[in-house]
Amino acid sequence: MVAARESKAASGSAQQVDVAVVGAGFAGLYLPHRLRKAGLTVVALEEAGDVGGTWYWNRYPGARCDIQTIDYSYTFDPELETAWTWSEKYATQPEILRYLGFVADRYDLRRDIRFKTKVTEATWDEANGRWHLATDNGAPVSCRYYIMATGCLSAPKPPEIDGVKDFTGAVYFTGRWPHDGVNLAGKRVAVIGTGSSGIQSIPLIAQQAEHLTVFQRTPNFALPAHNGPAPSDRMSLLQGDRAAYREQARRSMAGVPYPQQMAVSWQLSDAERRARFEEAWGKGDLVYILTQLWADQGVDVDGNALICELIREKIGTIVKDPETAAALMPHDHPFGAKRPCLDTNYYATYNRPNVTLVNLRQEPVKAITPSGITTGKRSFDVDVIVFATGFDAMTGAIRAVHPITGRDGKSLSGVWAQGPQTYLGLTVAGFPNFFMITGPGSPSVLSNMAVSIEQHVDWVVDRLAALRDAGFTTIEATETAQAGWGRHMADCATLTLHRLANTWYTGANVPGKVRALMPYTGGVGPYRSICDEVVSRGMLGFKLT
Ligand code: FAD
Repeated sequence: MVAARESKAASGSAQQVDVAVVGAGFAGLYLPHRLRKAGLTVVALEEAGDVGGTWYWNRYPGARCDIQTIDYSYTFDPELETAWTWSEKYATQPEILRYLGFVADRYDLRRDIRFKTKVTEATWDEANGRWHLATDNGAPVSCRYYIMATGCLSAPKPPEIDGVKDFTGAVYFTGRWPHDGVNLAGKRVAVIGTGSSGIQSIPLIAQQAEHLTVFQRTPNFALPAHNGPAPSDRMSLLQGDRAAYREQARRSMAGVPYPQQMAVSWQLSDAERRARFEEAWGKGDLVYILTQLWADQGVDVDGNALICELIREKIGTIVKDPETAAALMPHDHPFGAKRPCLDTNYYATYNRPNVTLVNLRQEPVKAITPSGITTGKRSFDVDVIVFATGFDAMTGAIRAVHPITGRDGKSLSGVWAQGPQTYLGLTVAGFPNFFMITGPGSPSVLSNMAVSIEQHVDWVVDRLAALRDAGFTTIEATETAQAGWGRHMADCATLTLHRLANTWYTGANVPGKVRALMPYTGGVGPYRSICDEVVSRGMLGFKLT
């Protein structure tokens, strides 16, 4: 039985809880709520000064969600849903942060969160069947269960360019933007990186800066957001039958309630394909355009290439300078194999006289100097450099807790030396009572994360309560189950086009990181069914003691 005891540590002695959660974002907020209801004592440890996770850290201009906010919300409490109204189709970072603060207040979550506290090491204590967590602030923690809700996109990638320390101007990271904002008026600004954060911030930085130079290595597909109020057709569906709408999302492929398309590209005429594409382009809905054009768009190179061509055509009509337009057109990955971005004046920004695009494929950056950035061909004097260079995704924050030591002194970094291995993206063999929320091997970043987080939290908390009620104290994935899940992951990946792209999904954006497609590509609904089946078959693939 899990002891329901909790004692605040006297200095030096450990805080004793049933469950320690690391992180206080979407996942790390829902966890304490569910764990308390299950009668388990909990502490959440959070490096930041308040709740919010992603939405606490990413305060750069233009930061927004790219899944419509009515879908990117908690769904566990219908009363919470009706107590909050989103003001826009794609809410801004301040509004999402307010929402998460509202949730923390509503369920009185902050009393179980230790802020400004980073977990630095974690060790399984075999003799006592408990995890011991070291922190950089205050008492260590002793817990029966250790849950990492540390986020898939929470470890910013350090700059890879020499000379950053020599630069005499100001340096900012989109993923660690100052809380009181940055005044860029009259400044010569460089933005390095054209992933989602770059694409969101560039139009607003261009409006402020005297001159903006964008350094682009790989162009991304960006689709118009057409932001505004939540679309009336989606709102009617949601309000007409909220429970059915949410259930459809949970059973869908991407965590947003759209049906599986049946028509394949070659069954449609050119005119029909164009009409479908134009309708999708006009909707401003990332998931719609990613899933609803034709059935083979994510699995067949030719079916996918048709969409790439249509989007490149759009870029060509928006961007006036042909050379700039050509540089902005992606050719190196299938549409959707890398997370596409939402565009609010992104492509149009390159028509401004104060914006220059530097194509690093033609002139790589050589160094950052005291006065700016030097490429193979030119030097750019700037006052400010903004790094929008992304994250060490999915495993970065997990591996940053180092070492995580499991059974027989095994370290997680050793087990993952050839890439992350997990069972269901939730657990790792040899690491009893250890869970990850939206870990590598789960649909995570290929989905509406709000839906995936709720599914993981519900599954884990339900299991912990069931274990306690049945008198078990440990749960651990078997090596066999983990190897089987790895094979199933690989089989699913072979069927999609993700294998054809070098992306942060595969670790390709981080030098030296082992290449492996980290998210599960089989879809949110099928994944949920598998997790449910594991339970209905007596915790298939787990050893309980
Ligand atoms: P996070 O929100 O990342 O929270 C993890 C927390 O753990 C952080 O606060 C971090 O400080 C803390 N932490 C990490 N390591 C430690 C440690 N060792 N000790 C203590 N604390 C630690 N997803 C979508 O589905 N739709 C979107 O539209 C969308 N938009 C996004 C926009 C941006 C700019 C970014 C960066 C991500 C976006 N995402 C989106 C993904 C987003 O990360 C998830 O939707 C979600 O917010 C993740 O919640 P989380 O609680 O799992 O992790």
